[in-house]
Amino acid sequence: MCGLPSTRGQTMREQQHYRLHFFHSRALSAQYEGDKVAAHPAVVEDPWGKSSSRLPQVLISNTVTQASCLLVLGEERFAFLAEWYDPNAALLRRYQLLFYPRDGSVEMYDVKNQRAFLRRTKYDDLHQEDLFVGNRVNVFSRQLNLIDYGDHYTANKLGSKKERTLAMIKPDAVTKVGDIIQMIYDAGLIVTKAKMTKLSWKQAGDFYMEHQSKSFFNNLVQVVTSGPVVVMELMGDEAVSVWRKVLGPTDPGAARVDNPASLRARFGTDGTSNAGHGSDSLASAARELELFFPSTTGHGPPNTAQYSDCTCCIIKPHAISEALTGKILNSITEAGFEISALQMFNLDQANAEEFLEVYKGVVAEYTGMVAELCSGPCMALEIHGTDAPRAFRAFCGPTDPEIARHLRPATLRALYGKSKVQNAVHCTDLPEDGLLEVSLNHAYCNFSS
Ligand code: GDP
Ligand code: MG
Repeated sequence: MCGLPSTRGQTMREQQHYRLHFFHSRALSAQYEGDKVAAHPAVVEDPWGKSSSRLPQVLISNTVTQASCLLVLGEERFAFLAEWYDPNAALLRRYQLLFYPRDGSVEMYDVKNQRAFLRRTKYDDLHQEDLFVGNRVNVFSRQLNLIDYGDHYTANKLGSKKERTLAMIKPDAVTKVGDIIQMIYDAGLIVTKAKMTKLSWKQAGDFYMEHQSKSFFNNLVQVVTSGPVVVMELMGDEAVSVWRKVLGPTDPGAARVDNPASLRARFGTDGTSNAGHGSDSLASAARELELFFPSTTGHGPPNTAQYSDCTCCIIKPHAISEALTGKILNSITEAGFEISALQMFNLDQANAEEFLEVYKGVVAEYTGMVAELCSGPCMALEIHGTDAPRAFRAFCGPTDPEIARHLRPATLRALYGKSKVQNAVHCTDLPEDGLLEVSLNHAYCNFSS
């Protein structure tokens, strides 16, 4: 994880630049000896400004280790390698992102051009718990993918216990998806990928291959192929064991005795239809995640979108990062709507602009809407039912949550929205758009799944 990050796909020159910068950045720890660098300018008006400022003077001292620097200074600093997609140049750019927990400030260096990109600047919207490899963070409206730790200290301090695991909601508990996602958040985990899919006999057999010789195998495969499942990648400290603890004992009967608050106690039916699955080790998690969210080729099993009698709803990134997903899904199902497909996806600026094109020049908040939509993962839902476009639109409520709270207090935006841009959900405007948006969305989902 730590050490020199991968340089795949870079030119020799870029690699050399990067290596130089990497070692240089290690040495930056030493610069603080004597507190020479406190000289970082104060907050600048446009923090992205014209970043031509020279690099701070570096006092390279081989005898000063990073750890001792941190002690001398009494200031902790975390370093990451981050990627940002520059829509103007259609390029992925790499930065070193530094975060200082003492005052919540951030600093960035352009890896390729070896120069300061963002001077050390206080930024209240970035928190230590957001900082781990694999996460996407927002820094002054730029969406940065954290692709590696920038030094050993950061990897040891923030990276050691983070795990990914595969969670599956079995067909008997899919209608409880909102409650289950809430239990995931309550356990301190986050959902980084999610998809509703329907398993074929073969896919289920491959998934449960370790049980092929067991007496309950056929019954098990029959149960998990009997309807849609929701598969998710969960991430967090010790995610594998934490998620299995949330699930509780395999048999819901035993779970109701031993751990009545567990997921299988609450939502399981019997020994086979036991509401959920969790990988039993890091190795199983890697294998199972690869089946549903392949890292190299293909997109894994398709989602369950039906594209008829339906409308599209997108849970916006701010609501996902505020851990409102479970509550929003619950509100939707409690209002009588059927969620017939679900998938998390990421939009880049160009996709978001295309998706919201009809609002360009029409709605004053267009730019903010685009920025919000690509500020983090979204969750797309297909809402199924007669007259779904009109009925669901009414359930979303007025665009402005303040107005919604006065006029339609039971609507999604009244309950979960914060502002006209961060209004919890995007919903199809015109009934005839419904199909179009779902289809479009499906394309993006497939693209980024
Ligand atoms: P898990 O890791 O807790 O899900 O349990 P296992 O890996 O041992 O089993 C996989 C799944 O097979 C379980 O979740 C159950 O759905 C099913 N299963 C396991 N043991 C039994 C059993 O003794 N009887 C029946 N009917 N199903 C079982
Ligand atoms: Mg198992």
